[in-house]
Amino acid sequence: MDIRLGAACVTSGILAWGLQHVAHRPGGNVPGVVGLKIEPRLIEKLRGRIHEGSVVVVGTNGKTTVTNLLADVMEQAGRNVLCNRTGANLDSGIASALLKCKGAEWAVLECDELWSAKVVPALQPSYYLLLNLFRDQLDRCGEIDHIQDAIVSALEHSPTTRLIYNADDPLCQMIAERAAKLPSRASSPASIAFGVAESMSLAQNRVADATMCQACRHMFVYDYRQYGQLGSYRCPNCGFARPALDVEASDVRFRPRGVAFQLSGRLNGEERSFEIDSPLSGSYMVYNLTAIATAALQTGCDPKAITQAIKWFDPKNGRLQEYHIHGRDVLLNLAKNPTGFNQNLRIVESDEGPKAVAFFINTQIVDGFDVSWIWDIDFEELANQPHLRVFAGGGRKNDLQVRLKYAGIKAELIDGIEEVFERIAQDDELGADARVYAIANYTALPPVKRQLDRMEREEGSSQSESMAALSQADEKIASMQEESSVSKPQGANPVRIAHMLPDLLNLYGDGGNVRVLEERLAWRGIPVEVERVCYGDTIDLDDVDLVVLGGSPDKEQRLASEELEKMRDDLAAYVEEGGPLLAICGSYQMLGRTWLLDDEEVPGLGILQIETRRPGTSTDRLIGDIVLDVPFASHPVAGFENHAGRTYLDEGVQPFGRVVSEAGVGNNEETRPHADGVIYKNVIGTYLHGPLLSKNPEVADHLLEKALERRAKRDEATAQAEAQEEAQTKATAQAEAQTELLLSLDDSEELAANQFIVAAQVR
Ligand code: GLN
Repeated sequence: MDIRLGAACVTSGILAWGLQHVAHRPGGNVPGVVGLKIEPRLIEKLRGRIHEGSVVVVGTNGKTTVTNLLADVMEQAGRNVLCNRTGANLDSGIASALLKCKGAEWAVLECDELWSAKVVPALQPSYYLLLNLFRDQLDRCGEIDHIQDAIVSALEHSPTTRLIYNADDPLCQMIAERAAKLPSRASSPASIAFGVAESMSLAQNRVADATMCQACRHMFVYDYRQYGQLGSYRCPNCGFARPALDVEASDVRFRPRGVAFQLSGRLNGEERSFEIDSPLSGSYMVYNLTAIATAALQTGCDPKAITQAIKWFDPKNGRLQEYHIHGRDVLLNLAKNPTGFNQNLRIVESDEGPKAVAFFINTQIVDGFDVSWIWDIDFEELANQPHLRVFAGGGRKNDLQVRLKYAGIKAELIDGIEEVFERIAQDDELGADARVYAIANYTALPPVKRQLDRMEREEGSSQSESMAALSQADEKIASMQEESSVSKPQGANPVRIAHMLPDLLNLYGDGGNVRVLEERLAWRGIPVEVERVCYGDTIDLDDVDLVVLGGSPDKEQRLASEELEKMRDDLAAYVEEGGPLLAICGSYQMLGRTWLLDDEEVPGLGILQIETRRPGTSTDRLIGDIVLDVPFASHPVAGFENHAGRTYLDEGVQPFGRVVSEAGVGNNEETRPHADGVIYKNVIGTYLHGPLLSKNPEVADHLLEKALERRAKRDEATAQAEAQEEAQTKATAQAEAQTELLLSLDDSEELAANQFIVAAQVR
């Protein structure tokens, strides 16, 4: 053993011993951190401890479950397996696992997507098991192609590694195609594609990640779509499509608790077909189990080991973990991005009985600092469920409460899961056997799990006294409903909001802005219609009172810009005649003269006198919370920025606001004092996600005021056209009374979420 390696092993060994025996703490990845400091090539030098082969498990959702269950299958097949079961998936976690290992036949190692670019070349695993790629922690990762680049680079530098991947995910298929073309992989083993062979007939969610072909920037056509971007896709332009599957799931049968399907495929020259029956529910489990079975069969495990391990799988790590507490069934699960959350909501919805659901969101470093993504979750689907009580917890409970409020759900704030049991204890409507669901993101999960573990241990001891009190939220929603009985102005057209290209410009919960506008009208009894103008659709802006455009990753932004170009003159006329418009981030950039896609200078719509440049690459980004002083708003305007482009305003063009937070740049680093966005006529362009309007109700109402004025003009025009004198007088009177329609609402929840950012960011 060389000196460095020896020193790394001894030091980390002492450290691990000390942590365990003196500090009574699990070692975690501390030994790996120290070991790698002493010997940066530690993983490479220790990989010989694995004798037969290794599988690295990568993907946005399901990594920990797949890693643990695949290791179980291998153990069931009689192998000695090394596995980082707790999900320590950076280089230090993997180094720690190897340091602890005295020698194993196989290794199953969970690895973070971005870190795999570093770990995989060092480890040279036999298999790279790629599960899926969804938007997650964009403040850490930038845009999704950055993650794809990292994975391609991992494979490039580990040519003997065989790729096993989810071919239903076009983002993974793209990686497989790019990897196959790498010179270093010219003689690598062919990749193995798995997927689901038929539609699982799931209801579709609003926001999906990849609707666009990354190869040629055309919209995909789907024979069927499962969830997110997963499904049977093809590009009508370049032919990029889901390939023939090597292993596939079919005849999928969902049960209230669990799922069964047929797994078939040809691996190692052998035809296989057998039934998989899992006690774990959720459509995403079909993919997870197919991934596990494919890897297990490929590495020589027999179907019996697979089916047995699946049957006995008992996740003790808070992933789909079940408890029985105070006579109630409790299900705890991790969800950390919109796709994962939506899948969890489906599990909750499929339970028709009375239930309490508690959501917990934190924004620590590993969670990502940006909570905008909660607006991409379809919480609306829970709104009409009977016998349901909803709770919001975690560091960002205020944001959650606002999000749920706009989904029509009153959420009660809680400090921990225990409180849920206390509050529902005497809720007769829910009854004594209502189930409890707890859904939490990364760092929010362990405290919830600890409380549940403890409660289950103490089960039988005195039950807490109930304190089920009607939440404040209840009263608020009730009062809103009262407000919404305000009589509808006779003869008025509904306010029409055009949500432009929601299928492309939907990056960081920006669709939430539309939700906020819509609800704030509805709560006031003002009729509203939202038009989703998707790719290929057209709209007559003369009939529109408010236009909303969201942010977007570079590639989608490019396609969106071509589409918007087609309506450039209409949009310009709409803006010039005072039509209100909100453009966030990528679409704010596109309203200017030019913007940049890597080195390519892309012409913008030229509606605003601004242009966007880029000092570095798409990874050189401005990311973080930001607070502005906006002239028309009495409260500071809070949001989250995440962009590579830097925008410069022409002389005399008004910014949207002045940056007043310690952190936060806004338009660009050079112009001082820092300013963000633009305000021109009734257009607001800004880099603030959040989504902007959810934490800044004044900005929402400012836009609504302008929209109501425009609607009044439309009403007037209709009346004139009809030449009915009476109607005309009525419409004119209405036009004058427009702003009075904007009754004040109780915005205390929105302002609490705003204050959370302002208090932390502004001194
Ligand atoms: N792709 C653009 C940029 O990085 C816009 C990003 C966004 O909309 N968040 O500058």
